[in-house]
Amino acid sequence: MAEKGPDRIAVVTGGARGIGRGIAERLAGDGLDVAVVDLADMRSELDEVAEAVRKKGRRCAVATCDVADAEDVAAMVSQVVRELGRIDVFVANAGIAKVKSLLDTTAEDFDQVMSVNLRGVFNSYQAAARQMIEQGHGGKIIGAASIVAYRPFEMLSAYSVSKWGVRGLTQAAATEWAKHGITVNAYCPGIVGTEMWELIDEKLTEQQGKPRGEALRENTEQILLGRVQEPADVAAFVSYLASPDSDYMTGQSVIIDGGIQFS
Ligand code: NAD
Repeated sequence: MAEKGPDRIAVVTGGARGIGRGIAERLAGDGLDVAVVDLADMRSELDEVAEAVRKKGRRCAVATCDVADAEDVAAMVSQVVRELGRIDVFVANAGIAKVKSLLDTTAEDFDQVMSVNLRGVFNSYQAAARQMIEQGHGGKIIGAASIVAYRPFEMLSAYSVSKWGVRGLTQAAATEWAKHGITVNAYCPGIVGTEMWELIDEKLTEQQGKPRGEALRENTEQILLGRVQEPADVAAFVSYLASPDSDYMTGQSVIIDGGIQFS
């Protein structure tokens, strides 16, 4: 399992904003050094997150990479290892949403969502595992699935399929890499108030002829705990998955959604 101690290193993809930023800051607060990774056009947001991490007294590396591109991901892992020394925790958080009915979804839409949400997680898991196996002391690989990996949401079909894929990939990776001391688990958030849900609300309300904000409000009504989820709610669970406390857990995709979908 991942080595204990103050010098553990975590990588967070899609770390420039939203849930990824919340995870990066939380892990820094937990005492890990962090590499924040995102697309090249998110560089200024990445630098802001890096500053927040350093303010917590931890080292931070910034890397730009498109997770859909395996070579890019491998180069990013090499850069992180060069700058921070090793990788103990890898959070494959980057993802995109496409809000369209299944009949309107084109093959290009489908491929685009899969290339980031599923192939991007595959590239990330594989590069992380290769590095951890070479290091020889195990590690923790963590992926972003979603509540839709258990129950697809209307107008989010390709997205839902990609997240079911992340759930399957997480089980496959856990099965093959346990012998290397690597655990692989995924988090399944519900409705988190990030730019991703701003986009979902925009597209849903446009399609339904409703005022902006109405789709988010209606969807929030199904949350038993009565409020929109915050990145910190997700990050608190990822903190557990990244910590030795979860050493006996692998292959799980755990719903943390305020009580929308029971598993
Ligand atoms: P967000 O859109 O706010 O942030 C996603 C980040 O990923 C952005 O910084 C973006 O630039 C980055 N990214 C996108 N494509 C990338 C690529 N090809 N390579 C590298 N980085 C890329 O979204 P969020 O709400 O913070 O979501 C984070 C993760 O959590 C996603 O995988 C998402 O599917 C998942 N999730 C979100 C919700 C929600 O309600 N917001 C619910 C369940 C799961």
